[in-house]
Amino acid sequence: MKTYEVLLNNNKEWANNKIKEDSGFFERLSHLQSPEFLWIGCSDSRVPANEITGTDPGEIFVHRNVANLVINTDVNVLSVLDYAVNHLKVKHVIICGHYGCGGVKAATTQTDLKPLLNMWLRNIKDVYRLHREELDGIKEETHRIDRLVELNVQEQVFNLAKTSIIQRAWKKENRPDLHGWVYGLNNGVIKPVFEMKAGTHIDPLYEYDDL
Ligand SMILES: [Zn+2]
Repeated sequence: MKTYEVLLNNNKEWANNKIKEDSGFFERLSHLQSPEFLWIGCSDSRVPANEITGTDPGEIFVHRNVANLVINTDVNVLSVLDYAVNHLKVKHVIICGHYGCGGVKAATTQTDLKPLLNMWLRNIKDVYRLHREELDGIKEETHRIDRLVELNVQEQVFNLAKTSIIQRAWKKENRPDLHGWVYGLNNGVIKPVFEMKAGTHIDPLYEYDDL
């Protein structure tokens, strides 16, 4: 059997088991999804949103990219955010990074990863520059990168708060709350590192006053 055929077999078994547990499961989900959470995580195969949070299909709206970035010109992440906030009406947006992130680590090197990856990871270099004093003071490389992972998550929460999508929802409906989490690959535990409640004020330079 080919490796991908194993996936299809597993899927049949999974679907059968779901129906055994709850005969209306797929019928219900096929009509409606009303997740409370938007998850923006790293594409890393070791950080599956549903599995590590013990949630089922239908409970989390998910977007993943390399190193869980929210970039203000990325039509993909902004479309996901727009849909989740304005149509699904999520109450929480979670940015979930993870310790040992290869994307974050690569951004700390001087290696030329060729145009596309250079362009993407440049955003993390900018986070490093903002916190250079603290990060340069951490001598052990793994610890330094782990701290950068946390600061990157925090910066992406700020990036969410800078969007008119979030600011308008905060003003009109006092939601969603924004959460910055970091998942530990070595122990499976998620550590909350940063939080922004709906309505938090940020640098006025980024606040729209005519929403
Ligand atoms: Zn990663």
